[in-house]
Amino acid sequence: MRITGSKVGLALRCLHPWADGVQWPDRATSGSEAATKGTAVHACLEEVANGIDGWTVEGMARAHGITGLADEMRPLVAAGESVMDNLDSGAVWLPYEPEVAYYYDPATNTAGRLDSWGHRDYSAAPEGAYACTLDLVSLPTEDPTEAMVLDWKTGELDPGDAADNAQLRMGALCVALANPVVKSVTVILAWLRPGGPVVDEYEYSADELLRFASVLQGSHERMRLGLTDPCPGPHCSSLWCPIRATCPATTAALAKLGGTRLSGVIQDEDHAAWTLGRLGAVKEAIKDIEAAGQGWAAEHGDIPMPGGKVWGPFEKSRESVHLDTAGAMAALEGLTVAELDKAAPRKTSKAALTKALGKDRAKDVLGRLRAEGAIHRGTYTSWGIHKA
Ligand code: SF4
Repeated sequence: MRITGSKVGLALRCLHPWADGVQWPDRATSGSEAATKGTAVHACLEEVANGIDGWTVEGMARAHGITGLADEMRPLVAAGESVMDNLDSGAVWLPYEPEVAYYYDPATNTAGRLDSWGHRDYSAAPEGAYACTLDLVSLPTEDPTEAMVLDWKTGELDPGDAADNAQLRMGALCVALANPVVKSVTVILAWLRPGGPVVDEYEYSADELLRFASVLQGSHERMRLGLTDPCPGPHCSSLWCPIRATCPATTAALAKLGGTRLSGVIQDEDHAAWTLGRLGAVKEAIKDIEAAGQGWAAEHGDIPMPGGKVWGPFEKSRESVHLDTAGAMAALEGLTVAELDKAAPRKTSKAALTKALGKDRAKDVLGRLRAEGAIHRGTYTSWGIHKA
């Protein structure tokens, strides 16, 4: 299995999915409407970038088998068009080309363009080479030392900063190595949201890209030596590990929780110690499961639950009262001291005073507050493992 641009960030943290004999789920059965919507939006923007007329969002949705999602696609396509309008008006990155495939071969530290007949067809790349498809590429003619690569993101989760995106960094490396005159590459991460695009940029120098090439070479060497044991971490879910459901590390983590021995009913002292000693692992597992659920929902859409409900992101709002607003205290006029104390208690802490006033002044103020009896000492009970 070849390491591709969208998975290079994961591969740099864990090579196990690409180890000999590891099976990935069938793409045909693991696809989703959300992923197909992203593909269809990309296809629309490819038409825009190529200056092709006559296509419609509805037609593109129909061609991808998601006719009902055309309304959701429309604002994302418009967001992408506005990004291209900006590129056009700035004229810095003209001309640009959509959907260009490249490879990077760590064995020879070379890169090249792949003129594939079908999208994501990397069969012409050398064996063991990384491969990626760049959503937009610009090799400007006015200043041939600068290039640009852009990636559209259409998911629900914030894709983060352009500078932290391994996929774009690999794309920049490919463009720089394949075009030796290029001395710097600007990467643009364009997150297409219904309300408009969120765009972040970063400019890579040739030195930074060479350093990244050596990181990829190191990873390639580890793969060659068979150093592909699972390396679990937050990346398992945040970077969409494709074999998470069957990974031996995930299975081992669940086994560590002890299956049926975990229970809310304590059987004896040994069982109490055994159960409570695993609370940390249980809390980690909860975070892990939540992250996995969020990752799945972001990629595949809301998860149907019993009773006609779904599990996924939703908007919530809450109001907060700001008593430091002018006139706020006057609005509380008429409340008794006891009511005020309950409804709008004025409390601070030693840490807040120290943070606001600095150590020495806070010490002075705390001394005066103590003398006035304004500092109360209370005890409370905390639960957890501690020294006997
Ligand atoms: S689930 Fe995590 S540890 Fe397992 S193969 Fe995937 S990235 Fe590696």
